[in-house]
This record gives sequence, C-alpha cells and structure tokens, in this order.
Amino acid sequence: MKKLLLIWLLISSATVFSQVPGIDSLLKELKHAKNDSFRIHHLITISKAYRAYEPEKAIEYGKLAIALNKSTGERFDQEKISNINLTVGNAFFSLGNNDQALSYYLLSLEIARKNGKVRMEGVASGALAQYYSGQDMPEKSLEYYNASVGFLKESKDTFNQVMMMIGAATPLKALGNFRLAESNLNFSINYAEEKGEQYLIFVAKSHLAMIKGEQGNHTEAIRLLKEVIPIQKKVKDHADNYWLLGREYIAIKDYQKAIEAFEVALPYAEEAGFLQIVADIYDDLGLAYGEIKNFEKAYKYGQKGDLLKDSIYDLERQDEMLALQEKFDSEEKDRAIESLNKDKKIQKEEAERLLLIKNILIASSIAAILFALILLNLYRIKRNSAKALDEKNYLIEKEKERAEKSEQFKSRFLANMSHEIRTPMNAIIGMSDLMMDTRLDEIQRGYLNAVKTSSENLLVIINDILDISKLESGKMKLEKIPFNPIQMASSVFNTLQYKAEDKGLRFLFKPDTSIPPFVIGDSHRLAQIIMNLAGNAIKFTEKGIVEIGIKCIEKSESSVMLNFFVSDTGIGIRAEKQKSIFELFKQAEDETARKFGGTGLGLSISKEIASLMGTEIKIESTLGKGSTFSFQLNFSIANAQEVESVNYEVAFNDETIETLSDLRILLAEDNAYNQQVTVESLKKLVREIQIDIASDGKEVLSMHDKNAYDIILMDIRMPEMDGYEASRHIRENFTGDKRNCVIIALTASATREEIREGYESGMNDYIVKPFSPISLLKRIAENISRAGHLDGKDGIKIRSASRSRYSLINELAGDSSEEREDFFRKFNKELDTSLNQLRDAIKLKDFKQISTVTHILRPRASLLEMDQIIELLQQLEECAKAGKNEDLYEQWFLRINKELGDAAEKVCVHEAQ
Ligand code: ADP
Repeated sequence: MKKLLLIWLLISSATVFSQVPGIDSLLKELKHAKNDSFRIHHLITISKAYRAYEPEKAIEYGKLAIALNKSTGERFDQEKISNINLTVGNAFFSLGNNDQALSYYLLSLEIARKNGKVRMEGVASGALAQYYSGQDMPEKSLEYYNASVGFLKESKDTFNQVMMMIGAATPLKALGNFRLAESNLNFSINYAEEKGEQYLIFVAKSHLAMIKGEQGNHTEAIRLLKEVIPIQKKVKDHADNYWLLGREYIAIKDYQKAIEAFEVALPYAEEAGFLQIVADIYDDLGLAYGEIKNFEKAYKYGQKGDLLKDSIYDLERQDEMLALQEKFDSEEKDRAIESLNKDKKIQKEEAERLLLIKNILIASSIAAILFALILLNLYRIKRNSAKALDEKNYLIEKEKERAEKSEQFKSRFLANMSHEIRTPMNAIIGMSDLMMDTRLDEIQRGYLNAVKTSSENLLVIINDILDISKLESGKMKLEKIPFNPIQMASSVFNTLQYKAEDKGLRFLFKPDTSIPPFVIGDSHRLAQIIMNLAGNAIKFTEKGIVEIGIKCIEKSESSVMLNFFVSDTGIGIRAEKQKSIFELFKQAEDETARKFGGTGLGLSISKEIASLMGTEIKIESTLGKGSTFSFQLNFSIANAQEVESVNYEVAFNDETIETLSDLRILLAEDNAYNQQVTVESLKKLVREIQIDIASDGKEVLSMHDKNAYDIILMDIRMPEMDGYEASRHIRENFTGDKRNCVIIALTASATREEIREGYESGMNDYIVKPFSPISLLKRIAENISRAGHLDGKDGIKIRSASRSRYSLINELAGDSSEEREDFFRKFNKELDTSLNQLRDAIKLKDFKQISTVTHILRPRASLLEMDQIIELLQQLEECAKAGKNEDLYEQWFLRINKELGDAAEKVCVHEAQ
C-alpha cells in the first residue's frame, strides 16, 4: 500500500514538472496498472524514458521497480530486473556517483548470473569493463571485456559483441598490446562493413585512428579520421574527431591544417559542453599559433586554456560535493523505502518495546532528579570558585597587555631616539674627521680631539642601550660564521693601544700559536666582550701591565676550546662586589663614576652575551693588586669551504678606484651637515668620485630622470617625498638603466620594519648611520658588482668580511620562529610562482612577460646573494626586451631555476640550524 502511495506521489510530481517526451501517457498507464507485475513493467519503462533527460528520476523509478520486484518475491522477468539495475547504474554514473554506479552494475551482473541470463551477463560485464576503463584500471577492464565478448558470442548477440571488441581496444592500447587491439578493430570493421552498420564502422575506425596515431603512423590516422568524419553527424563525435585530426596534423608539423581542424572542433566541443576538450583545444591552438609565430593568438588561446582549466577544477570540486550529496540522499531514500517495508508485526513489537522503555524512563527520571540536585549543589560551589578564577585571569590578562604595551612603547622609543641621536652624531663625528685633516694649531687639535672622543663615547652609550633593549627582549641573535680569533683580538688590541700608551701602561697581546686560523662563531659580539674587558682594564689601571690573551685548552680535529682572558695590575675589586658589578648600572665603588666615569652597562652586556654563547665570565681580583677576567668557549673549526664562503675583502686597488670614479652617484639627504660629511669623506678616499645631492624624494626623481645615476644613496626620512616612495617610483615608473640603478638606504634607526619596507619598495641594501666612509664605499662596490658594473676581475673581491652570508634576508625574516617561518614560506612561494611564470613566458616566447618576471626575480636573487644569476637575469631581460628569439632561453632558465631553488633551500637549512 505504501509503495502505491509512493508511486502516486512520484507520478503527480512528474506530471507537473517533466519535459520528457511521452512520459504523460506512460505515467497514466502506471496509474491504471492492474497488478504489481504491470507496475514493475511500467516503472522500468518510465525509468528508461527518464534516463537520458533526468537521471535522478530514472534512479527513483528504477529503484522502485527493483524494490517492488523484491517485495513480490522476485517473480518478475529477471533479465529485465538485471537490465533495470544496469539502467540505474548508468544513471548514477552520469551523475558522477561512481560508487553507486559500480554497486548497481555488480547487482545487475549477479542477477543475470544467478538466473542464467547469458546475454545480460555479457551486457553487464561490458558495463563493468567500460566503468573500469574510465577509472584507468585497464587490466580489470580487459578482464570484463573478455568475459563480456565470451557471453555475447555465446548468446549470439554479434552487434554487442563487436561493440565490446571495439571497447576492448582502449585497455589493450593502455597495456601496450597494439597488435591485438588492431586485430580486434579490423575484425569489427569487416563485420560492420559487411552488415552496413555505419555506427560500428565509425566507432571502430575512430579507435583505429587513435591507435595508428599513437604508434606514429600519423598519415594513416589522418586518412581514417577523414573517412569517419562524414559518417557521423553527432556534435559530440565531431568535436572528438576534428580535435584528434588537429592533433595528428600537429604531429606531422602541419600547423596551418591543425589550426583549421581545431577551429572546426571548437564550436562542436562548446556545443556539446565538453569543457575539458574545449580547454585542450585552446591549449593546442595556442601551441599551433606559437609554432607559426602568431604570438598574439598563441598567448590569447594559452590564456583562455588556463582560465578554463581553473574553472573546470572548480566545477569538479562542485561535482564532487554534489556526488557526495547524492550518495547521502540516495542512502537516505533507501532507508525510507526499507522502513516502508517494515511490516506491522515489527511495528507492534516496537510499540511494546516503547512502552517498556517508557516505564524504565519514569523510574530513571526520579533517580535522575535526585542526581541532578546533587550536581546542582556541586556546580554552585564550582561556579563560585570559577568566578574567582575568571577575575584573577582577567587581571593577569590586563597586566600582561599593559606589560606588552609598555614593552612595545620602549622598543619604539629606543628606535626613535637612536634615530634622532644618530643623525646629528653622523655629522659631528664626520665633521671632526674632516677637520682633523685641516690645518689646526695644538690647542684647536686638543679641543677637536675632545669633541671626537666625547662623541665616540656617546655613540658607545647609545649602542649599549640598544644592546640592552635587544638582550632584554630576546632579540639579540648570534651569528655563526668563520673568523680568525687572533685577528679578532688583535684588532681590539690595536684599537686600544693608543689609550694604553697614553697612560704609560705596558699593553700586551700574546696569543697561543696553536690556535686554529678559522673557527665558527660570532666574532663581533666576541670582540665586543673583549673590548669591554680590556677597556675597563686600561681605565682602572694607573701603572703596570694590561694583557689580552687567548690560550688553546683542548683541541681535536673538528673543535677547539679557547680560554680568553684580560688581566691588569690595576685597582682591583673587593670580593663582596665581584658579583654585583655584572648587574645593570652597578659599579664597584660609589666614587667610581666620579673618578673614572662610565655607566655600569658594559659588564652586564658582556655577561649576557657570554651567556648567549653558553659561557660565563669569571673574575679573580685582589683589591689594590689587579684583576683577571676570563671565559672559555668551545668552537667548531671551520673547513676550507666555509672559510671561502665568507672571507671576501674589497681590495681598493687602482682598478676599483677607477671603476668607482666612473660611477654617477646621487646622495639623497636632507640634513645639510650630513650632505657635506658624506660627500667630502668619500672624496677623500676616491678623489674623482662624482656625487650630486638631492634634498628630498621629489628632487631625486627629477635629477635621476635627467642624469640617470648608477647609485642612489637614499636617506629614508626626507621632507616632501620619503625614500621609500622615491624608490617605489623609480622601480615602477622609470625604464631601462634608470629603473635598474642601485639604491642603498642610509638609515639612522635600522629597525627591521624599516629595512623590510626599504627592500619591498625596491631598495637593494642599507647602511646604518653613522657609517665610516670606507664601509660605505665597500657597500657601494659590493652592490655595483652585483648589478654588473664591476666584473669581478682579479683584485676586486667583493662583500666585506663584516657581513655574513644571507645576512640581509635573515635580518628581514624577523626574530620569532613563526615570523621567520612565515617569511621563508612566503618568500619560497613567491619565488616558485615567479619561476613558473618565467618558464611559461619562455615557452610562449612572450618577451614582455619575460622581462617583467626577470625584473621581479632580480631582487629575490639579490637577497639570495646569487650574483651570477643576477647577471644572467639581466642578460635574459635585455635579450627579451630587444625581442631576440634566443635559443639559449630554455638553457638559461634551467640554470636560474636550479641555482635559485638550491640557494633558497640552503637559506632555509641555514636558517633552521
Ligand atoms: P663601567 O666601566 O662603565 O663603569 P662596567 O659594567 O664595564 O661599567 O663595569 C662595572 C664596574 O666594575 C666598574 O664601574 C668598576 O667598578 C668595576 N670594574 C670593571 N672592570 C674592572 C677592572 N678591570 N678593575 C677594577 N674594577 C673594574
């Protein structure tokens, strides 16, 4: 009864909405069917009628027929039941629900087998064979095709047998058995021609054409395709065959004919809604037009193909979702039909069970109420304590926020102050240096010395404060680069020698001769500690000896333990003060500051750096006799390769100076004193150097437009237009050499944000004020060499020893591990995208795109310090701009791709260590 109701419901919904031809009378017949057998028959007919138009409906009616057959004891014709299972399977397949399709095909086969319906066994096996062929499972597909051909032969259904033999050509081809595939097809063609079966001729010859094509016999493939095209009039087949024809023409390099075939295929494929084939045709048209050098069309079709492929991908995802939904819906419906089949007896039993459950529920409710009362009490107690905890958490959270804010404020304040102080300091120190070289009398020279020393001391204090802030926030990072420990200590010794001599002290430096030449560590921070200890020793010693020493304590092939010490015969420190002098702002005696000066920062910074290095500074001291400060450090010994990777020096020989003299430099700086200092001190080193001055960003743009500078030294904070904006403008709106000039930022604060923004706005490098003229020249030489102005001739080795490899990219990456991970992930992704774009552009010979992408890649290569790749990119860009069809493009790309990829990987490994 319920099934009838369902049928009624289905019929009424179908009559309202359906457009399927003849469906009204079929539904009417179903309505008036006298018994279940007729009903099943009509349900099957209706399902098949719906199959091509509304597969969902075909499934509904088909399933109803199957269920009705089951409930009537399977008395209906089982060949037809097997067949309707196949129809439902096909309907599921056309909806993309492969799982359901497969299970109905298997059911169809099982019913046929169980009931000895050999022909149906053949047909169902054929459906399974096609299914597996579509799933790229050629072995399984072939198995079913063979079975199918056997059953159909047995039941003398030659038409279908030949269809299956043609179908079997696909898995045979996939398994490389071309010979058998061809003989199957030739048999089919003979049969079809004999019987005049045009459709079979068409299908068999199309398959044969594909096989011939794949075996390299393109002329035969073309002949066959030309033969079959007029046979069929279906849009879908035309789309397929003209497309195949086009591909065969491509294979024989007849691009004009290929284009003609593709252009015929295209509207057919669009009409048939074969999106994938449309996308493939676009790609193939792109390729063919590229070959005949019609790049505009090649590009247009290539782009269309890409766009369509993207949207197909989206559609496929949508289809997958729909298939999942469908799977869910049909399972739901199966369950509904099943529940309709439950007979009354079960329902009665169900009702009795429900009554029992009801009674149990009443009893347990009483128990539950009691239990709930207990719980409520417990909850009240817990809620009160939770409330108290919440309040505490809130206060802690607030306190944390406040602390974080004040920490941020402190960092910002320090960065700003350091900027504000460093800018005038640059002028003071620079001017003093310049003035020292002028004619001065003794008194003036004395005054000037005082100015110079005081400003240098002031700079030390600023640096100390910044270091403390870095140490406190955990932002101080140690480098791991090869350095020579003796060289490091002797440079400290040389710097302090004059001071010691002034005081009449014997100043000694006696390094152990067994110290290895190169170890790995942070030489600058180590030098900072020794400078501090030795500076103190000289300061607190009136007569006698001050000694710096390094001793080798233990040495293996790969590592060495060194003991660094500084001893003096000075005032010494009382035992009870020996600990507190390492604290911030603490000095040993009240009168120390008055007598000797100082801030009490040096030792605490040294102690923190030592602890970052994993060691502790020890002190031995006797009041009035002297002190020894010492610490031990274990180092890996650097191998030759590691040494080579960093040990660059800029040699200022005649050749370098000549090259630097040829450069056109623009200094962008708003502070007049700093302008003077920079220009004059550079001129002292390279007399012929040509430097012009601009005092704001706008002036930079107009002067650069007129004079095309090689180098722009760009202050960041300037009136009118700042350094970032000016750099962006140069990179975006200028062309050629003007766009490619080197921009070095002159920054006073050098916060990471500032450096990052500089890099993003197109600057190549930065240098922190106050800078020594020699370090600025080194930086210029280094950048100019990268940009290809210096060609790396002997004597011009670039990159100063003071910078480790990948220092800029590491600085940009940030401090926290998430920040760094994020940065490197983004960097790698962008690099990948650009490299892929370059590959595509080269493939399409899209010169404009090649030059755009190489331009994007250059700063990335520069961050990775790939000097030769930068040169190669430049060469590529120039050739592309000149529209040269270089055969070497592909080769260059391979090198660029590999070396940049390797370097990016290395930085990440380097970063992980
Ligand atoms: P500063 O030297 O600026 O005062 P430091 O942190 O470097 O600050 O040193 C802290 C204190 O430790 C000094 O003020 C001094 O009292 C004491 N001190 C450091 N080194 C020596 C030394 N070699 N001899 C005697 N006292 C020393």
